[in-house]
Order: sequence, then C-alpha cells, then structure tokens
Amino acid sequence: MNIAIIGSGLTGSLAAISLAKTGCTVDLYERLSNEELINRDRTYAITHSSRKILENIGIWSDLVSNLIPFQYLNVIDSELNKTVQFLVKDLNNSQQKYLAIGWIAEHRKIMLSILEFITDINNINKIPTSVIPNTNNYDLIVVADGSNSLTKKKLKTPSFNFKYDQICITAKVLLRGVKSNEAFEILNSEGPFAVLPLGGDLFQIVCSQSVIKGTYNMNLSKSLFLDYLSTILPSGIEPDTIVDEPNSFPIKFVFNYSFFSGKYIYLGETAHKFHPVGGQGLNLCWRDVDCLANIISKPFFKHNFTFIPLLYSFSRFFDVLTISVLTDSLVRYSRSDFNVFVLPRRFIFYILKKSSVIRRVIINVLTNGV
Ligand SMILES: Cc1cc2nc3c(=O)[nH]c(=O)nc-3n(C[C@H](O)[C@H](O)[C@H](O)COP(=O)(O)OP(=O)(O)OC[C@H]3O[C@@H](n4cnc5c(N)ncnc54)[C@H](O)[C@@H]3O)c2cc1C
Repeated sequence: MNIAIIGSGLTGSLAAISLAKTGCTVDLYERLSNEELINRDRTYAITHSSRKILENIGIWSDLVSNLIPFQYLNVIDSELNKTVQFLVKDLNNSQQKYLAIGWIAEHRKIMLSILEFITDINNINKIPTSVIPNTNNYDLIVVADGSNSLTKKKLKTPSFNFKYDQICITAKVLLRGVKSNEAFEILNSEGPFAVLPLGGDLFQIVCSQSVIKGTYNMNLSKSLFLDYLSTILPSGIEPDTIVDEPNSFPIKFVFNYSFFSGKYIYLGETAHKFHPVGGQGLNLCWRDVDCLANIISKPFFKHNFTFIPLLYSFSRFFDVLTISVLTDSLVRYSRSDFNVFVLPRRFIFYILKKSSVIRRVIINVLTNGV
C-alpha cells in the first residue's frame, strides 16, 4: 500500500514508522528541517499506552533512558486543601512491574530518537516540502500537519472548536522539598497547575490561567515569578531558581466531527486538541497511530483501502470523546465557584481517598484510554 503522510511532528513520524512496519511504502512530507523539528521546548507526560506502542515498534528500549519515571501522582484541591495520591499499585497488575505511573519526556530527546529511527527504515522516504505533487499516486493520505492544518481547511472538514479564555505558561524550575519521583496536579481556582519531574531538583511547571493574569505573570521579573509560584505550590515546597525563560501559548479545544475525508485520514492534533491538564495530548495522538496501524495490518484491508478511513474514524471516536470530556471537566472543576460547589468537591475527594477501585478506574482510563 502506498501512503503519504503530511507532517513529521511526533504523530506523523511515529505513523511513518508504524505503517512502514506493516509493509506500506511511506512518503513523509515535512516543511521543516530536522533541526527545527527537534528544537521545540515542550515537555510531555508519557503514559503506559504510549510505552506499549513504543515497545511494539522497538523504540522503547532506546528511549527509556531519556525519560524520567514518576511513582507518585498527587492531585491537590487547593481550595479544599486536600490531596489524593495515585500510586503504582493503582495501575493494572501487568503495568506495575515498570515501577512508574508514567514518564516525563523532553521533546528534543524523543524527537531526535524517532527521527534517527526513521533513517534506518528503507520504505520511508522523507520529502522536504509542504506540497504533495500528485495525490493520485497514493492509496491513503495520512494528515498529521497539526492543529492549524491547511489540508483540513482545504478539504473543509468541520470541527467543534473553541478557545479557552486561558493561556498555558511553562517554565523549568529548581524546587526544594519535593521527591524527584513525584508529580503534582494542583486544581487551583485560576486553572490546573502541573509540576512534572525532570530529574534531580529540576521540575517543569505547566500552569493555565486567565489571559489577563497569565500575560501579567509572563511580564514579571524572575524573582517575582518565583514568588508567584510559591503562592500556588503546596506548603513545604519552595521554588529556588527559574532555569529558562517561561513560555506561553493559547489553549484551544478542537474536535473534528469526522476523522477522515475521502482517502484523507486525520491523526493527532489535526483531529483533536485539548487542554494540557492531565498530560493526555501526545498519548492520544499516538493511540491514533496505533489504531490506524492495527487496521492496516489486517490482511483483509491489504486490498480494500476504501473502508479503512471509516473504520479508523469509528474506532477512535469514543477514546477521543472520553478524554476530551475528562480533560474539560477537570478544567471546569478547577475553576468552579468554590462556595457553590464545595459539597460536590468534598464528596469527590472523599470518594477518591476512600475507594481504591475508583482510583484504579480513573488512572486506568488516563493511562490506557478507552
Ligand atoms: C506551542 C505548543 C506547545 C506545546 N507544549 C506542549 C507541552 O508542553 N506538553 C505537551 O504534552 N504537549 C504540548 N503541545 C502539544 C504537542 O506538541 C502535540 O500534542 C504533539 O506535538 C503532537 O502533535 P502533532 O504531531 O499531531 O502536530 P505537530 O507537532 O504540530 O506537528 C505537525 C507537523 O506538520 C508540519 N506541517 C504543517 N503543515 C504542513 C504541510 N502543509 N506540509 C508538510 N508539513 C506540514 C509541521 O511543520 C509540523 O512539524 C504543545 C503544542 C504547541 C503548539
């Protein structure tokens, strides 16, 4: 089967590897150089669903030494002043042996490993352009050109989308009073605030807040920004130094009504983009790749390409819908009026603390998808 992939970000690149492994010939179109692809300052939470996908295609063992595992995930309601801790023992039995709830990965390291892996695969041709000369040459076209996809605009594929009235600020910070293997999701009235371990005392802060407050905080001096962080972090955790300049980006919600248009199939952020709370973005993109590769590897579809887009779109719908509802609910929970919702919030935290079954269900949906 001849496949074109538009976009060689983390979704398109992994799709190229997975589809090439099923025996397809892949032309991978990308407008940026490898250097530009690698030099993005992003940090991802990697779940067990991604670990399994990377293991199946043989990249995991090379990649894992570059990832930071975490064994504790503390979810804090800062208005209630209550914490629920998710532990490795809340995962499925088969996942507990990895001794990690998940891993934190810096973009540069995983993009570099994946691009190096691609160079060793003969049936992937990297084509440095943004224009496919003749689409008739391909049986399927995988569109992974990101959330501002021009291909999707050209094909007029409708989607449900809105902009949160929030921006996301990311910064690398040295912290005191935290174990190097714990992560935090702090449900703060301004918006969710995540602390992700990067090794030793270094942590990535990912916080979302209103555009006005976020713009104000982005203009603070480093020492005032540290003071601001100390007002959000739980007591006992002290921010020491900001290691880089904080970055910010707007937060969008995008959900395509269909994940295909004719022989064009939408993967990754072309099909969906959610709030960064919960670190689901990349994992969901890679589950798209895994689903498509599974369908294409079935002998029946080797000569019946026509059904692939529809089956793919149907197969991905419920996972993407569930994660979109979960992430959006977390944002609304975090920002809900405490005086009005104090009782439901107390109840949710009480249930989470008391019931290991509920904790297991939640962590399993977040780590494995639906
Ligand atoms: C500013 C920013 C910061 C982010 N930070 C984080 C973070 O800290 N943590 C996190 O978990 N997630 C983060 N994300 C989301 C995360 O980057 C994505 O989930 C992940 O990269 C997968 O995206 P993708 O491959 O589907 O799309 P992208 O990474 O956007 O890749 C799309 C690729 O397609 C290429 N392309 C576009 N148009 C064409 C064309 N016409 N022809 C050829 N190539 C084309 C682009 O050059 C790009 O390389 C961030 C996103 C953005 C935009």
